Amino acid sequence: MRETLLANQTFAMAAEQFEQTADFLDLEQEVRERCKWPKRLLTFSLPIRMDDGRTEVFFGYRVQHHLSRGPVKGGIRYHPDVELGEVAALAMWMNWKCALMKLPYGGAKGGIACNPREMSRGEQERLTRRFAQELLPFIGENIDVPAPDMGTNAQTMAWILDVASTQAGYLVPGVVTGKPVELQGSKGRTQATGHGVAFAATRALSRLGIKAKDSSAVIQGFGNVGSHAAETLMFDGVSVKGVSDVGGAIWNDGGLDIVKLRAYVRETGSVVGFPESEVIDPQELLCQEVDILAPCAMERAIGKELAPKLRCKVLAEGANGPTTPEADAIIEERGDIFLIPDVLCNAGGVTVSYFEWVQNLQRFSWTEREVLTKLETLLASTFDRMVSFAEARKCGHRLAALALGIKEVADVKKTRGLYP
Ligand code: GLU
Repeated sequence: MRETLLANQTFAMAAEQFEQTADFLDLEQEVRERCKWPKRLLTFSLPIRMDDGRTEVFFGYRVQHHLSRGPVKGGIRYHPDVELGEVAALAMWMNWKCALMKLPYGGAKGGIACNPREMSRGEQERLTRRFAQELLPFIGENIDVPAPDMGTNAQTMAWILDVASTQAGYLVPGVVTGKPVELQGSKGRTQATGHGVAFAATRALSRLGIKAKDSSAVIQGFGNVGSHAAETLMFDGVSVKGVSDVGGAIWNDGGLDIVKLRAYVRETGSVVGFPESEVIDPQELLCQEVDILAPCAMERAIGKELAPKLRCKVLAEGANGPTTPEADAIIEERGDIFLIPDVLCNAGGVTVSYFEWVQNLQRFSWTEREVLTKLETLLASTFDRMVSFAEARKCGHRLAALALGIKEVADVKKTRGLYP
């Protein structure tokens, strides 16, 4: 299994980051191995009836990295490239993210190799319900609490909740987070990840002495994370000059109107063709001179070819794992880019998921302002903890964030001891 996982380039990347951090922390071999490997790797074959009458079998995965600090937490992704190794990498990152934020969770991730863009709503619903049915023995408010990720949304969570509640015979809101608000989802959850990305990016700007209203940004990816990050940045006064999605990239030197752009994307499915913009090459977009570059799409978007060409001051990682270790080394060597690593930058989503779970357990609901204020407080203190650690230990921000998260997990493992 070790070899199978390491054959996946995203898992190999997560494992390399872990080993570098473990070396830095001088972690003993025994606890290092226990922290590194996932506890449970689940694979499901999911046969469903397609609209044309065919039966198609999809493969679904759920990886629970470790359960030492509480239930595991993480999204479910629908994307053609989903495979076990990738899901395991994302579960590992969730683990360090939850620990860094001091949320009482381990990390998990799930996914189905499918293309939701080419499936009808009925096909997506049948696939989700089948996956939920298979997952039921392994999820629950005390075990594993799924949430949306790429290609899934509040509706997906509502179908999972429906399967779990139908089987239980009563409503079980705590089985998933990122649900619709009318089904006891949390206010603020939909925009939470993007809101957190924008909050962290403007905090970095103020550390650099740059005012939001004098700054500019480029966003790669215009899904739930990228579009909300762009909108919040615009509301903060930042000029969002360029964005991209799977269809291509657009640019407006005077700043894009993100509210109008979001409406355009809802209608047409892509940013391409937005009237108040010109077309730009998606790779070129990432190399434009702006204050903030926020990669909010897939992992490994910034590699060693791109890293020397970046002209941003703040790299705000909205996606999970967008920068390869080779690119990381180049960025660190350059020393002119303020990196906000993924485990902190996109932690707004899981943090508000945690707030949603707490509200569900308490049968209580908070206002959107309460939720976002609590989120900002937690992000601000974690951001400052990471920067102080990096300054004190003379290391990069990624190493600092991962070290804080991994140490939290390793300490718990040591204190609990080895069973039996
Ligand atoms: N999918 C999101 C992430 O990667 C959120 C996970 C959650 O809310 O549990 O952080």
